[in-house]
Amino acid sequence: MKERIIQKSLASNKKPKPQTDQLEFGRVFTDHMFMMDYTPEAGWHDARIVPYEPLTIDPAAMIFHYGQSVFEGLKAYLTPNNEAQLFRPEKNMERLNRSNERLCIPKIDEEFAIEAIKQLVAIDKEWIPTSEGTSLYIRPFIISTEPYLGVAPSRRYTFIVILSPVGAYYKEGINPVKIAVENTFVRAVKGGTGEAKTGGNYASGLMAQELVADKGFAQVLWLDGVEKKYVEEVGSMNVFFKINGEVITPKLNGSILEGVTRNSVIQLLKYWNVPVTERKISMEEVLDAHKNGTLEEAFGSGTAAVISPIGQLTWEEKDLVINEGQTGEIAKRVYDTLTAIQYGRKEDPFHWIVKID
Ligand SMILES: *Cc1c(COP(=O)(O)O)cnc(C)c1O
Repeated sequence: MKERIIQKSLASNKKPKPQTDQLEFGRVFTDHMFMMDYTPEAGWHDARIVPYEPLTIDPAAMIFHYGQSVFEGLKAYLTPNNEAQLFRPEKNMERLNRSNERLCIPKIDEEFAIEAIKQLVAIDKEWIPTSEGTSLYIRPFIISTEPYLGVAPSRRYTFIVILSPVGAYYKEGINPVKIAVENTFVRAVKGGTGEAKTGGNYASGLMAQELVADKGFAQVLWLDGVEKKYVEEVGSMNVFFKINGEVITPKLNGSILEGVTRNSVIQLLKYWNVPVTERKISMEEVLDAHKNGTLEEAFGSGTAAVISPIGQLTWEEKDLVINEGQTGEIAKRVYDTLTAIQYGRKEDPFHWIVKID
């Protein structure tokens, strides 16, 4: 790692911390944030941890006009011994750089970014909530800041990391959801930006989500953008099906976002000798499996929920109830194991954990 200094100016006034049982997702932020800037002359420079506060940005800054931005999402967990730890942060920083490449944003030093996250979390460690299932969500992101209305890559950027204490995703235990298969809108196509974690992907997905939310669905299941035939993702999670004893997840194809949780689920299943396959899977195949009674489980995977079991899929007026609407055995086992590793309640044979203290 290049020797680089992080300047620190600490907040003189600390904010009151929210009560753990009232925590929502992403509404409250800690006392500090990390920032660094990019210019062509200086590269990434002026790394600093400063009090959390609003930014002053030129209205002509390119981020507001052409959406050149990328982000990440990971968490810090508190162990039973009150040690703070991260889960596979190097995977998030690798992905941030892949997103950067796709969006013509200059790459960051991944090791240095992890060091910055560790130092920031250490400073705001008191903000990591302590009750069961809670954590400190970490949101690194990069925005283009050059004031210029020409359509071109910005010549200036800011990298920021903010922290938000989040409540338990499942307040009454892991809980299956109803999902609508999306037949009108698509999330991404090969050659587009679906593989990158960039803001525009989420803006374009809102409408589909809003339309089904009114009908009581938690999320949409996205199909491929060309034929609307093959399963891609569920909301902003990757998706898994268990059919006749085999766990199947769509193969990365240029339009699917490669989740860190997805990768961890695959590794865990292999470790357990549960058959797991990455391949194309069509909705037709899922429907057939449901018809002949071999669709045993379906679930989503992502950092926020870890695992989200799918109790029902609705596709072209057909309701496919999965595992009687109950959480499946594999979903539960993966959820229990991943969370136990993340919270330091179980040993970590994969070396996924990065300690902060
Ligand atoms: C972030 C994200 C995921 C899940 O990634 P994790 O690294 O597991 O949190 C899956 N799909 C989309 C579209 C995402 O934005």
